[in-house]
Order: sequence, then structure tokens, then C-alpha cells
Amino acid sequence: MLQATTDVRFDRTQRHLHTFGDLLVRQIVQESQTDQAARHVAQLRQGGAQCVAMLEQFDQIEDAYLRERRGDVIQVVERVMKALLGHPGYAPPQTNGGRKLILVARDLSPADVVQFKQHHFASFITDVGGTTSHTAVVARSLNIPSIVALHHARQLIREDELLIVDGTMGVVIVDPDSQALAEYQLKSREFGLERLKLKRLRNMRATTLDGFTVELHANIELPEDVGQAKENGATGIGLFRSEFLFLNRSHLPDEEEQFTAYRRVAEDMAGLPVTIRTYDLGADKDLEESQRFITNPALGLRAIRLCLIEPERFLIQLRALLRASRYGKVNILIPMLASSRELDQTLALIAQAKQSLDDDGVPYDREVKIGGMIEVPAAALALGIFTRKLDFLSIGTNDLIQYTLAVDRTDDAVAHLYDPLHPAVLSLLAHVLKTAGKARVPVALCGEMAGDLALTRLLLGLGLRHYSMHSAHLLDVKQRILQSSVALVKPLALRMLRENDPDRLNMLLGRLNA
Ligand code: PEP
Ligand code: MG
Repeated sequence: MLQATTDVRFDRTQRHLHTFGDLLVRQIVQESQTDQAARHVAQLRQGGAQCVAMLEQFDQIEDAYLRERRGDVIQVVERVMKALLGHPGYAPPQTNGGRKLILVARDLSPADVVQFKQHHFASFITDVGGTTSHTAVVARSLNIPSIVALHHARQLIREDELLIVDGTMGVVIVDPDSQALAEYQLKSREFGLERLKLKRLRNMRATTLDGFTVELHANIELPEDVGQAKENGATGIGLFRSEFLFLNRSHLPDEEEQFTAYRRVAEDMAGLPVTIRTYDLGADKDLEESQRFITNPALGLRAIRLCLIEPERFLIQLRALLRASRYGKVNILIPMLASSRELDQTLALIAQAKQSLDDDGVPYDREVKIGGMIEVPAAALALGIFTRKLDFLSIGTNDLIQYTLAVDRTDDAVAHLYDPLHPAVLSLLAHVLKTAGKARVPVALCGEMAGDLALTRLLLGLGLRHYSMHSAHLLDVKQRILQSSVALVKPLALRMLRENDPDRLNMLLGRLNA
């Protein structure tokens, strides 16, 4: 009990410390265009010395918990220093005599993690973060074991220590003995063999035992991810999170650069559908440090909301997408729509982008399909607004769950409340699938639920026929679909819809997967 009170008190201290760091960073970012920056560099030197003195004071504190807060001081100082130096905050990993490296960090942003696609770590562990945060979502696409929200990893693990990271069980073994090492080496070989066996399903259609065909598309972050999607038999790209083209850089990509990236994906998929989401920036994928001061970023200027207040920037992307549409089968997907006004404004901007291309005599596919993500409960409930004017829908369950249950997907303190099986979530999903079906508007599901093997049959039974997920999950899900029959899973899935008790829901899910 005493421990809990202490935690709350110091968590608050920690938050104040980070807010203080944020304020400093904001001031530095605002002033960096002026000669004030030089003054800050001088302050940096002085600040470094003050930091050392402060850390010495922390070292002398008796209370172990408070003493550990020195890590937070270091983190804030690091951020302030990076802002002063104009440093993007990323250092490529050093090699370590051929041994694979594991990154242990307090926290990583999605922008950090997407860089691991080029600089291969064997694994990473963070002290904080939610399991459906964009950091974790991108981590899954890397196909390396990673664990978020381990809480004290940074304090307990020392540099150069040998680690085993079991991403499936969420376990880290520090300094393993020879028996544990041998056991995990065997597990890793078995896992590799399983993956190899699954590869045989690559070119097979995903058809259930009773003849229902399911589309299995891939989610990607960067054009180079297409290779992995094809290797795993994706029949299309269901979600290209285009905002990752905008991160980790000092200048935004212009129309030409964006066009080249979108065209590359369209061409590489050789006529298979490629659904490109317009940039979903804001919240945990902010371009500017100043965004961090928004009290409630997930409810603020994010995704389409941000695009609509910056139409010039949005029009650049729309023109690039339309231009790329003639090199394959490109669909445009709009994130986080909630109201008819937003939809109308978006469609008007798309019409404007088309008109400007017409004026310039630039060709594009006039049949390009426009879809909307259903990730806000309001959109799911007032679905008619979207089925009337859009060509297709894609359910973003990561956000739909976050907004339905009021659970911040990036905050591990409430991760236990994030529940895809919550009756409200299931009933929204069923409602969207049924209503869109009646309106004959195709609907896909591209959140993490699509790649969760435990939920494949449930979704199939609720009527889903189009899943989009990270490539690493495609073959497992295909295998499950090949072994399923809609006639058998549908009654159980519908029973789950009528159930409110979490234990009974889990029991029914177990039966569905038996
Ligand atoms: C979602 O919200 O489910 C989704 C697919 O989008 P993102 O995870 O990028 O927010
Ligand atoms: Mg989303």
C-alpha cells in the first residue's frame, strides 16, 4: 500500500520533470531560427555541469525509488541537448564483434523504430509503451522479438550483458546459463522450421473449408516493405501508412518524392490493389516537438483533422497519390473520419487535386477508389454518412478500441483495459460489417486484430472477408482460414456477440479456436 502511494507521488514528479523538459525543448525549437540559439549552446555547457551535479545529489538519496528517477533527469537533459544541437536523436547501432545487438530503452517513438528497418537490431525492449502503440505496431512488422512496458529493464540490464528475449511470452532472461541458452537455441530453430513450412502456403488462395474466399493484404510503412509482403503471399497492400515517409527528416517530402514512393509500391504490386492511407500524423507520430504540448494528442489535431487545417500540404499528397494511380491499382484511404463535414471537405480537396492535374494536363486513374477508415465510434455508429459517399471502408481496430474504451493505446498503465473482446467493441465491429454489407460497400479490417491468430475465426464468423496485417502474420492467418469453416464459426461468433461476461467470452473464443 505504501509502495503504491509512493509510486503515484513520484510518477507525478516524473511527469512534471518531463513537462519541464518539453517546455525547454519548445522554447529552443521556437528560438532556433534566431541568434538565441547561440545563447542556448552556451547554456548547454553550463547545463551539462548542472546535470552532473544534480545526478550526484540523486545518487545520495536513500529511497531507492526516488534515486532511480535520475534516469528521468538524464532523459530530459538528453532531449534538451538534442534540441539544442538540432540532432534528430538517432545513432545507428555499433557492431559488437559480430554479435547481434539488443536495444534497451526507456521509450522509443514510432519514428525511431521504423529506422530499425535499415539498421538491424536483433530485438528491443522498452520500459514504457502500449502493445498497440505505433511503436509496437512497427516493431511487429520488423519480425524481431520485442517487448514494451517492461518497467525496469533499463535499471536492471547492464551494457554488454547477454540477453534472451522471448517476444511470445514477454520474457527477458538476463545472463542465461548454458541450459537456458541451449533451450532457446532449439526453440529458435524450431520456430525457423515452422516458418519455412508455412511458406508452402504462399501461393494458395485463402479459402475456407466451405468455400468462402478471404483477401489477405499486407500493412506496410515504407515502399521497401513490399518485398516482404510478396514473399508472404499478400494479394494486395491493405494499408500503406504513408506518414512514415514524413518522419525522421528535416524537410517534408515534396510531390515528386511522394509520387516516386507511391508509384514504386503500385508498380511493385503489379496490378494488385494498393491502398495508401493519407498521412496520419499527430498524436504519437508528430512532426514537430511543439505538438507534444497538446494535452490530449490522440483527441487533437491528428490524421484527417490535421490535413484539413493544412490543405496546401494535403493537396501535395493528393496530387502525388493521384499521379501514382495510373501505375497500378491505387486506392486512397482517409484516416480518422468522424463527421460528414470532414468527409465533404476531404472529397472537395480530392476533386480540387484532380482539377489541378487536369489543368496541368497530368494523367491519373479517373476511377481511383476513395475509402475511409472506421476508427472513431461515431463513424461506426453513423456509418451511413460514409457508406453513401465512399467506395470502401477499412476498420482500424487499434484506434476504434482506444476511442471506444477511452484507453490510451500508448499508455501501459491502462494497457490491461485495452480489450478487443469487450462487448462494445464486438458489437461495433459486427454493426460495421453488417451495415456495410447491406449497403454493398466493401469493408476490410486493418488493425492489429486482423493479424491476431486467436481472433481470425471470430472475425470470419462476424462476416469479415478482407484482412490486412503485417506480412509476418499473413501465412499463419492463411493457415487458420484454410482450416476453418464459416458454417461452424458463425454460430459461435454470433453467440459471443450476445455475451457480456469476459470469462464466458474467453471460453467461447477457446471453443472457436479448438
Ligand atoms: C488502426 O487504428 O487500427 C490502424 C490500422 O491505424 P494505426 O494503427 O496506424 O493508427
Ligand atoms: Mg488508426
